[in-house]
Amino acid sequence: MTARVLVVDDVLANVKLLEARLSAEYFEVVTAMNGIEALAICEKAECDIVLLDVMMPDMDGFEVCRRLKANPATHHIPVVMVTALDHPSDRVRGLEAGADDFLTKPVSDVALIARVRSLARLKMMTDELRMRAVTSKEIGIQEMDVFADGGRAGRILIVDDRQSSHERIAAMLADEHVVEVEANSSDALFHAAEGNYDLVIVSLALEKFDALRLCSQIRSLERTRNVPVLAVCEPDDNARMVRGLEIGVNDYLMRPIDRNELMARARTQIRKKRYTERLRDNVQQSIEMAITDALTGLYNRRYMETHLSSLVEQAASRGKPLTALVLDIDYFKSVNDTHGHDAGDDVLREFATRIKKSIRGIDLACRFGGEEFVIIMPETDMGVATIVAERLRRRIASERFPIQQGTNSLEVTISIGLATLDAADDNAGSILKRADQALYRAKRDGRNRVVADAA
Ligand code: GH3
Ligand code: MG
Ligand code: MG
Repeated sequence: MTARVLVVDDVLANVKLLEARLSAEYFEVVTAMNGIEALAICEKAECDIVLLDVMMPDMDGFEVCRRLKANPATHHIPVVMVTALDHPSDRVRGLEAGADDFLTKPVSDVALIARVRSLARLKMMTDELRMRAVTSKEIGIQEMDVFADGGRAGRILIVDDRQSSHERIAAMLADEHVVEVEANSSDALFHAAEGNYDLVIVSLALEKFDALRLCSQIRSLERTRNVPVLAVCEPDDNARMVRGLEIGVNDYLMRPIDRNELMARARTQIRKKRYTERLRDNVQQSIEMAITDALTGLYNRRYMETHLSSLVEQAASRGKPLTALVLDIDYFKSVNDTHGHDAGDDVLREFATRIKKSIRGIDLACRFGGEEFVIIMPETDMGVATIVAERLRRRIASERFPIQQGTNSLEVTISIGLATLDAADDNAGSILKRADQALYRAKRDGRNRVVADAA
């Protein structure tokens, strides 16, 4: 995986040092010698990760970080603070400014590369989600406020089989979150999957279970895949910490645990998790909007057309039948003319409901446009499809359609044309065309009838 890393430091030697190490690992590097320059580069979306020196003249790293995180155009870019002072209070200041991580000078190679890799992975994922969310914003889905959530009131699971340790961690977090403890590490995965947590804190020094295995299981299990994992490491166990980051641990803390740092890191992870969750919901919603018709809830024409080609290919290659129905409401214009457009909409909705009741799960029903609908029936030959079509026609004609909140009702009829997959060179377009011609004959012959294509 490659990413473009922005190195910001006012001392040229430091910039060159980090640049050389990152380049050796095939990361692309851009550099800036002050905050203003760095902000401009980020604003133009020219980097994926920022390594930010804390102490710089004019604008210090905390301020640069705050500005990056306050700007909707740049807040999703991961920021790693690089500090000469290894003071917990400094780390807390950075986290409050929104930094995603820390490195202490002199920067160790393993920590540098592990952190950059893990953040690059996260960035790639959020980029994709953001891209889709931007599209959904364009089509009118509500905008998200990332800063509305402070990362508080989360549900946290602590996995630690040392009582003195988990008691301390739980006590530190209890003011702000709902905390549960799992001291039996072999039950931890099950517990994590059941509890709908916002964060799982895992001690990497579990006595009765391989903590790294647990972290990797949490990452791969469907139900826990998106829950952030915060690892607690022993100060002399750098190797395990690096391994943890490689397998997808989101962040870590070194013992002895500093309360403020714990609080800040927990908040950051919870906020990030909620943010990605909302992005994901938004994407889901925009996908649904893109493929369904708003009035009837049936699939829209574009979705049907995309899908029909592959259904036709599948049926042809497996030698299975496939039948298409084109349905059109008779004299629909007069419904609008006589009772108004809203009544026309009521009829369309009710018609869609009756269609849904008449078809199977594998059938594909869509509103093709106006008062014209298409149903694709895979694995269905003309004989069976004709029976279904006839049943639907009767179901429409025999039961009046309520309009105007049920105060009135109408008799509605439909005409249906059918065509089935036959010749080897048949395709989505030709089947629909034949079904449409059959529909035309049904209209011509008096409406309220089902006509099968003769081919
Ligand atoms: P035919 O029996 O030949 O199908 O006649 P028809 O009146 O049903 O067909 P025509 O194509 O002349 O008219 C269709 C009407 O459907 C015209 C249009 O205003 C109306 N229509 C299209 N979309 C909507 C919609 O979303 N809501 C409502 N209320 N009416 C719609
Ligand atoms: Mg019509
Ligand atoms: Mg029409």
